[in-house]
Amino acid sequence: MISFVGAGPGDVDLITIKGRRLLEDSDIVIYAGSLVSMEHLGFCRKDCQVHNSASMTLEEVIAVMERGHYRKESIVRLHTGDPTIYGAIREQMDELDKRGITYQVVPGVSSFTGACAAIGKEFTLPGVSQTVILTRMEGRTPVPEKEDLELLASHGASMAIFLSVKEMGKVADKLARGYGRWDVPVAVVYKATWEDQKIVRGTLRDIGERVREEGIEKTAQILVGDFIEGSYDRSLLYDPGFSHMYRGAKE
Ligand code: SAH
Repeated sequence: MISFVGAGPGDVDLITIKGRRLLEDSDIVIYAGSLVSMEHLGFCRKDCQVHNSASMTLEEVIAVMERGHYRKESIVRLHTGDPTIYGAIREQMDELDKRGITYQVVPGVSSFTGACAAIGKEFTLPGVSQTVILTRMEGRTPVPEKEDLELLASHGASMAIFLSVKEMGKVADKLARGYGRWDVPVAVVYKATWEDQKIVRGTLRDIGERVREEGIEKTAQILVGDFIEGSYDRSLLYDPGFSHMYRGAKE
């Protein structure tokens, strides 16, 4: 069986129980070397064959999977965070489909929730925003025009921006144009849940400068929106005057 497994954002205990068990039983592990903690490999058997996908092409990854599959081996493809977000798993699944090879996907804790937990906030606050936008700025991978940061920011929703901290200044400029103000709170979380995690706080006005001072150029989440600072409304769900299926109103 081939399993695409989410390793979680960093802290090795943030993998699911299902993911950990698959790792413990695996004959072959192909892990995304740049972002997956090596500590995960310590849970594999001594005779487990380990491949770092950082130096492999899609074709090479599929060849390892195919060989293992025909030997009836248990194969784990270990991706950082949750594999369904910027994981490049679709192209792997399509190649396996073409060969009639089955697989499963085991979800993981994405770095966007890992980062929000690290700053102790909630993305979805009544009276502030009920939407989270997950996106990135274009790099070598283009982003469709309709998903330009400025346009997305114009909704005023909570945002988690991946793969973009290297251009923090440019990101902040685009966001400020979209939100229509410079005082929108921002938290940049470098290596969320790792031991060397770093949090840099500011607003769109000064975050570029602060991130530069800290020397953060990769592996960071840019969290943006009024969910980080400021007031919000109480939830209706836990309001004594509000009744729902599981609880009558108290007044
Ligand atoms: N599938 C992953 C994302 C992979 S893309 C997930 O669900 O998190 C790689 C990008 O994710 C990085 O450039 C960075 O923006 C973000 N990222 C991954 N791990 C991170 C971490 N521990 N802390 C902050 N950002 C992280």
